Amino acid sequence: MSSRNGARHVVIVGGGFAGLGCAQKLADHQDVHVTLLDRNNYHQFQPLLYQVATSLLAPADIAHSLRAVFAAQDNVEVQLAEISEVDLASKTVKSSDGGEWSGDALVLAAGSQPNFFGTQGAPENSFPLYSLNNATRLRSRILGLLEQVDRDPKLIDRGALNFVIVGGGPTGVEVAGAIGDMIELTLPAEYHNVDTSRAHIYLVDLGDVLLKPFSDKAHGYVAKVLKEKGVDVHLGTSVKEVHTGHAVLSDGRLIPSRCVIWAGGIKAAPVATECGLAQGRGGRVDVQPDLAFDGHPGVYGVGDIANISGPDGKPLPQLGSVALQSGKAAAENILADFEGKPRKDFAYRDKGIMAMIGRTEAIAAIGKKHHEVHGPLAHMAWLGVHASLMTGTRDKIEAIIDWGWDRFSKTGGPHVLDQGEAAAIDWADDPAVMPSPAS
Ligand SMILES: Cc1cc2nc3c(=O)[nH]c(=O)nc-3n(C[C@H](O)[C@H](O)[C@H](O)COP(=O)(O)OP(=O)(O)OC[C@H]3O[C@@H](n4cnc5c(N)ncnc54)[C@H](O)[C@@H]3O)c2cc1C
Repeated sequence: MSSRNGARHVVIVGGGFAGLGCAQKLADHQDVHVTLLDRNNYHQFQPLLYQVATSLLAPADIAHSLRAVFAAQDNVEVQLAEISEVDLASKTVKSSDGGEWSGDALVLAAGSQPNFFGTQGAPENSFPLYSLNNATRLRSRILGLLEQVDRDPKLIDRGALNFVIVGGGPTGVEVAGAIGDMIELTLPAEYHNVDTSRAHIYLVDLGDVLLKPFSDKAHGYVAKVLKEKGVDVHLGTSVKEVHTGHAVLSDGRLIPSRCVIWAGGIKAAPVATECGLAQGRGGRVDVQPDLAFDGHPGVYGVGDIANISGPDGKPLPQLGSVALQSGKAAAENILADFEGKPRKDFAYRDKGIMAMIGRTEAIAAIGKKHHEVHGPLAHMAWLGVHASLMTGTRDKIEAIIDWGWDRFSKTGGPHVLDQGEAAAIDWADDPAVMPSPAS
């Protein structure tokens, strides 16, 4: 056993909802020493990435230093490390720069990454929305396009104000609605010379409805709200290719665009492959009902990286509440192991599913029975559930002030173009959509 000054040692890979939930639970036990490893020095609040991307919130509103979270707990040590090797048998992880950590228990909570499903050009040319860096890059690209159109309005004819969003799940719907609000409500105040009425938002999804897990009534509500926001929804259609200056749809249509946003799905983080265990749907690794890996009782998989079965045997969805609760439950089982007590099976407390479609429009299916509400009530439910996922009281207060401000004001948040590389566009590099010489 790799005890530290007599304390048992737990190594956690990933400081997202799952890793944080696990570390916070263990932090209350002075006879346990925790090493929390993350490639970033911050916890990012993924549900609000789209608000950073569309300039409603600043990055600092949704990212919190992991060291600050545990500043008062000297039995939790946070280290910056990108884990590239996992040895389940010895409960050891290694980083590419030579770091090595072994524990009495190991928790893998490395989350997920975008899944491009082999779509040609998507990894290089689209803007995924799964990390803080993704969100600030997308914000810079949107603002960069506006700056260029301000100087040369003819660029609109070449797709400069066409936004293509791939994926009609919560992320795609939220970002589509937020761009619609941005174009209608906040941009005209600052970009006086840009004809935002010529902006076009395309939302493309292979399925027959948006936000599939909700009811038919909710599907109607989402379609209506997005239509009001000027979003052009294309169902039963996929994006087949993404080029630097255009996207090709499965029906053969070509959309000139310099901003294709990828919200098309996720798969498990590469750490899942490093485990050497069989990977199921979305590359996730199956865990036992107690959240441990089969044959490796001291090694746990929690949050998005794991396939966790629900009461009906179907895998639980990749949600913040599943991640947070599974992280805490793994911590309880680790403590039970240390105390020689039996472990408990994980029982998920379903708080429901919800999505924001705009500043005041939302849908929520609340509680275990998924009682559905739309509009302001759903908006309040969204705020409540997501505030409960936030790490600290300060974050909760600041975010709620910002959300309230956002709801009642029509001025934008931080329209900051801070990633010049993401904003830079070479208009000559995509002949497929260049106007013909005669035009
Ligand atoms: C855009 C978006 C919107 C969402 N909206 C909602 C929502 O409204 N409500 C909801 O409930 N859920 C939502 N989700 C889902 C929810 O955010 C995830 O289910 C949840 O974040 C999963 O938590 P996790 O801890 O498993 O992984 P993550 O939160 O992804 O955390 C994983 C951590 O591991 C770190 N990491 C990864 N690989 C390594 C490595 N090799 N070495 C070291 N560190 C590593 C990462 O830096 C990260 O900090 C959304 C997700 C996205 C992407």
